[in-house]
Amino acid sequence: MNTNNKETTCDLMIIGTGMAGMAAALFAARQGIDTVQVGLIGELGFASGLIDLLGVHPVAQGKVLDDPWQGITRLCRDEPLHPYALLDIASIRESLDIVLAFLTTSGYPHFTLLQRNMEVLTPAGTLKPTYAVPHTMRRGPSALADRSSCLLVDFDGLKGYSARQIALSLAERWPELHPVRIGFPDAKGELYTEHMARALDVADSREKLVAAIRPHIGTAEVVGLPAVLGMYRTVRVMEDLQQGLGVPVFEIPTMLPAVTGLRLREIFEQRLPAMGIRLFFQQRVMDAQRLADGQWRFDVGRTDIDFRITARSAIMCSGRFFGKGLHADRHGIRETIFDLPVVQPKDRAAWHHKDLLHREGHPINRAGVAVDGQFHPVDANRQMLYPNLFAAGSILAHQDWKRQKCGSGLAIATAYGAVRACTRMLD
Ligand SMILES: Cc1cc2nc3c(=O)[nH]c(=O)nc-3n(C[C@H](O)[C@H](O)[C@H](O)COP(=O)(O)OP(=O)(O)OC[C@H]3O[C@@H](n4cnc5c(N)ncnc54)[C@H](O)[C@@H]3O)c2cc1C
Repeated sequence: MNTNNKETTCDLMIIGTGMAGMAAALFAARQGIDTVQVGLIGELGFASGLIDLLGVHPVAQGKVLDDPWQGITRLCRDEPLHPYALLDIASIRESLDIVLAFLTTSGYPHFTLLQRNMEVLTPAGTLKPTYAVPHTMRRGPSALADRSSCLLVDFDGLKGYSARQIALSLAERWPELHPVRIGFPDAKGELYTEHMARALDVADSREKLVAAIRPHIGTAEVVGLPAVLGMYRTVRVMEDLQQGLGVPVFEIPTMLPAVTGLRLREIFEQRLPAMGIRLFFQQRVMDAQRLADGQWRFDVGRTDIDFRITARSAIMCSGRFFGKGLHADRHGIRETIFDLPVVQPKDRAAWHHKDLLHREGHPINRAGVAVDGQFHPVDANRQMLYPNLFAAGSILAHQDWKRQKCGSGLAIATAYGAVRACTRMLD
């Protein structure tokens, strides 16, 4: 152990810097709660940047939802244990409104149709329903709905993204897609989306990109590009490209890690400390202990313990297997920080269906930590375990965010519910 480790105290410890952790920190900052946040900041960079609320229900029927709000009402009726059922619609709306307003004031506005989902192109040339898209993607769904003539651009050296493949996959649905491959300004060899986005923050690169695309415009009414249109200055990049090309421009998500997730990460990383959150970058909770007075003590560090944090309360937003909040081995599924009970199939053989693409999804994807109406983790008898411990985000049991297409929406809404309950407890 590092003998120079520092001690600090706080009212609230948020564990996790994915979407749930970041949203929880935002809600806590707005409440003026003295908060420390710890996590490996990387995960948010793996998110697509789209905010799904609810895209599919019932999953077994693969029913794609036009109205996610109606869908949530039905979901809560059909699956009363689903985490959305712990919240009323007004609270879910409010949680999203706060996050979307925060993104707008951060210079990265998102766009919704309020009551309806949108269809967004994926890099595989499929379509997926989502609720909110960054402003850079705003024109894509309407161009698709109108079947507008569209120039689809990709770049020599950009792997995992092919305008031609997208056009081929969507040929029936959107015949007027015209792929073209060009060179990215001042670049040779393999391209990385993050480098491309940072390059386009510079005016000179934008001018060169416009000059490279313009000869191909023809009768196109709109231009689709991979999501590389700036890192910090997306509003300016969009304006310059649209002015230079004379038609609307939109981004299509790329493979992960995606610039759209990195942009969110940068915004939260920069703005939360200015709002009073003490953010411990690239650190993890190595041990959690409950003290005699009921407070939590966390040992935090990278390899050695660098900090000891004593907290009156904690919200765990530590994610699932990818985020490392859950761990699966031959004995079962474990919660990694507090060793909380995990709702899971009785034995390993029941984790997965034999059919990989089983319509209902695999039972393991609904494993997680069960909570009560105040987002306290509970035991097998649904009894609260600790009055000052809360959970939010994808670690929650009884949901399958991938199949239900509710990842970020669920993370934001449950973070809101957990912070609200925690605020009441701290008062
Ligand atoms: C590949 C991918 C694509 C996605 N695409 C979409 C999409 O298109 N639309 C959408 O709405 N959502 C999407 N999501 C989901 C979206 O990002 C969710 O919001 C997210 O997965 C759930 O967020 P979370 O914060 O609960 O968990 P995670 O994002 O998994 O974050 C968990 C956090 O906990 C931290 N943590 C774990 N253990 C510890 C510890 N011991 N100490 C400190 N910190 C710890 C991790 O470092 C991490 O910061 C996608 C996610 C992934 C991974």
